[in-house]
Amino acid sequence: MSLRIDELSPTEVRQLADSFETAPLEEILRWAWGRFGTNAGIGTSFQGAGLVMIDHALKAGFKFPIFTLDTNLLFPETYELKSRLEAHWGISIEGVQPSVSLADQARENGPELWKKAPDACCTIRKVEPLQRKLSSLSVWITGLRRQQSDTREKTRILELYRFDDLRELYIAKMNPMANWDRDAVWAEIKSRGIPYNPLHDRGYRSIGCQPCTSLAKSGENERAGRWTGFDKTECGIHTFLGASI
Ligand code: SF4
Repeated sequence: MSLRIDELSPTEVRQLADSFETAPLEEILRWAWGRFGTNAGIGTSFQGAGLVMIDHALKAGFKFPIFTLDTNLLFPETYELKSRLEAHWGISIEGVQPSVSLADQARENGPELWKKAPDACCTIRKVEPLQRKLSSLSVWITGLRRQQSDTREKTRILELYRFDDLRELYIAKMNPMANWDRDAVWAEIKSRGIPYNPLHDRGYRSIGCQPCTSLAKSGENERAGRWTGFDKTECGIHTFLGASI
């Protein structure tokens, strides 16, 4: 799928991104649904902001396809949450799988690749599966927030990226939660009765794969606790596209 540049120009994206800064969440989502329908898809790792966004979308009748990157290394609590959310919302959430099994990864790269080369592990288990999934979409909707980390503070509500140079295809990335803060997200989760990961109640702030997620210390940013001991703050899914145009 993906976009041709005559379907959504960089100028229009910049104008929309500016106007979305003060728009209600439903209005932003309505634009994506009205213009792209099911060619816009929500990717979620079940963090709070994504859950709020999905709840608003579904209650407004916007039936975006929803997917998660199932690395096969998520916490049992996360898999259980996926099932609870599917029952709560009456939907199916696609678990996008890596093309390499854990056993093959261990055979080719040695055991526990995440301990010695987490970038390589994330490429196999997250980035490549995401690229495959995004090739079927025109708009990728995420729950990214600026407040989460230094690397996310310049996130725009609507962005445009080159996706396939050979075929001159682009993809729009929509981050409707970019200007939300953590307190507002959690107030919505509680008031709307949205199921959430019980690990949050045990002190985990950002929850990813089990081997690479630990408790963050108080005062650290929201992404602290991911890849402790490595100079790594992003898995690559939000950086592989390069700079927005
Ligand atoms: S977060 Fe850790 S276990 Fe998950 S894909 Fe990346 S390196 Fe591998």
